[in-house]
Amino acid sequence: TNGDDAPTVVLVTGGSGLVGQAIKEYVEEEGNTKDGETWIFLSSKEGDLRDRKATEAIFEKYQPTHVIHLAAKVGGLFANMSAKVEFFRENILINDNVMECCRIYKVKKLVSFLSTCIFPDKTTYPIDETMLHNGPPHPSNEGYAYAKRLIDTMNRAYAEEYNCNFTSIIPTNIYGKYDNFSIQNGHVIPGLIHKCYLAKQENKPFVIWGSGTPLRQFVFSRDLAELTVWVMREYHEPTPITLSVDEEEEVSIKDVALAVAKAMKFEGPVEFDTSKADGQFKKTAGNKKLRSYQPDYQFTSIEDGIQQSVDWFVENYDTCRK
Ligand code: NDP
Repeated sequence: TNGDDAPTVVLVTGGSGLVGQAIKEYVEEEGNTKDGETWIFLSSKEGDLRDRKATEAIFEKYQPTHVIHLAAKVGGLFANMSAKVEFFRENILINDNVMECCRIYKVKKLVSFLSTCIFPDKTTYPIDETMLHNGPPHPSNEGYAYAKRLIDTMNRAYAEEYNCNFTSIIPTNIYGKYDNFSIQNGHVIPGLIHKCYLAKQENKPFVIWGSGTPLRQFVFSRDLAELTVWVMREYHEPTPITLSVDEEEEVSIKDVALAVAKAMKFEGPVEFDTSKADGQFKKTAGNKKLRSYQPDYQFTSIEDGIQQSVDWFVENYDTCRK
């Protein structure tokens, strides 16, 4: 199977999530796939990747030549703090099953996802790809962080021992359509969008937790989708690559909240509840490696990305994750 003349079959694990659906929309746009390429988007309904037999059955069925590995047990701060064992074990099982099946089924390219939140807690800025293992992660998410870090260790080990072409992507905060808009468990942008929607419905102030001063880099899911497909095709180093907007594009939570209010056409008061914790002031990631390959790539502006996310949320309010 999978000789050089075999047709290209790209299997996307976690294909039903935020990033998976963005990749699906991207490859469905005209001109973004190559002739004869088949794309398969998996959800957990198709098989539990924690289970080795279920994972093998998926590889046997689809015979993928390329794998974009997004599936993971992910969660917010509280979930991570209270279930470190599950965050470690479930991600270790999923990643081991997927990587080992990619070796056995002779997958030509595997691209897995890390995160900036698994980097050392005490670090210098900007964070770059070489710093991943330079110190312990924040204790709140160490189960998740160590499971994710081992993807990078194993990408290098599989390359050395089996000549596998495995690599990984480090995205900063992702947002877009198909996000989890839960106020309790979601990330900052989808949480703010949901809150602002409710404030507008109920004629109440839009209250943001914390001072609004912390700075973050956000990458729109469609941009990440486009760059992920490029990594799959063109980036052939086993070491990770950060996919993020430039350092100068860091924005404050306040700016994000105001952009959400504007996109939602919310005209009531916007308030900051400074009794709530702010989190780290910044965690700037550098994107020099990306820029060395893609000096001119234009990221979607935060205003434009937020407008598209708000419009999608409002249209899909009844059925979206929240
Ligand atoms: P989502 O939470 O939106 O989607 C998770 C996906 O994983 C879903 O398709 C889900 O399937 C699938 N999944 C979870 N557990 C299993 C399992 N046991 N077996 C099979 N499938 C499973 O994730 P995102 O799109 O946000 O994230 C994609 C990747 O990017 C992840 O690896 C994440 O760690 C990483 N990342 C995300 C960031 C973000 O800001 N969102 C930031 C940095 C990194 P189902 O829909 O059926 O439940």
